[in-house]
Amino acid sequence: MQSILSLRGVTKTYASGDLEVQALRGVDLDVPEGDLVAIMGPSGSGKSTLMHILGCLDVPTTGVYELGGVDVSDMGEAELAQVRNAKIGFVFQQFNLLASMTALRNVELPLVYAGVSRTERRERAAEALERVGLAARLDHLPSQLSGGQQQRVSVARALVTDPDLILADEPTGNLDSVATKDVLSLFDELHDAGRTVLLITHDPDIAEQAARVIHIKDGRLSEADRAVA
Ligand code: ADP
Ligand code: MG
Repeated sequence: MQSILSLRGVTKTYASGDLEVQALRGVDLDVPEGDLVAIMGPSGSGKSTLMHILGCLDVPTTGVYELGGVDVSDMGEAELAQVRNAKIGFVFQQFNLLASMTALRNVELPLVYAGVSRTERRERAAEALERVGLAARLDHLPSQLSGGQQQRVSVARALVTDPDLILADEPTGNLDSVATKDVLSLFDELHDAGRTVLLITHDPDIAEQAARVIHIKDGRLSEADRAVA
């Protein structure tokens, strides 16, 4: 099976004043296309740092990151932004929806950056919202939606560009247990439809649902020992 991403010896060091924080200390990882992977670890273990690198929001201090066979480790911000917009969909804990825009307009945004025409944008955004069960909520503002619905809007926004990889950082961190189930089953559906999804969480119950669980601690990965189907 083709790896969609591969990390080799990736480190990340932050300089904060005179101090250096080693957030990642030599990470190796391969994710085959179509996998649903949970990355689990305590607060401060390096989860968000890893997601930023995987999502081309930042580059490693040392080591190599290949996404879809392309080495992105040394790219400058402009080039990195292109890769990011073309290949990656993000879901964040805080939803990150624009409060003044309707669900439809929020989902359209990545297509605006991609230069897609207005008519096609509307069509694709409406389709993505339908996909997450919100066909009846296109014209609602985020404030008029529940937390679970807002997170589904952000999943639609992550999907609308047809990305190679969906990265979700604590996507259920702000949701109650019903909405959590709802959003997790959505990720399951995406996985069933062949999407590659990386789910970052500190919640063991959530990680339990993924076929593959990777633990991160003090900037190092270790894979849970389980039978591979
Ligand atoms: P997690 O998401 O697992 O809580 P992070 O990746 O956010 O962990 O952080 C890993 C380590 O790196 C922590 O010690 C954190 O304080 C540090 N860190 C994260 N971002 C920065 C930054 N921009 N500057 C300095 N230190 C940072
Ligand atoms: Mg984090």
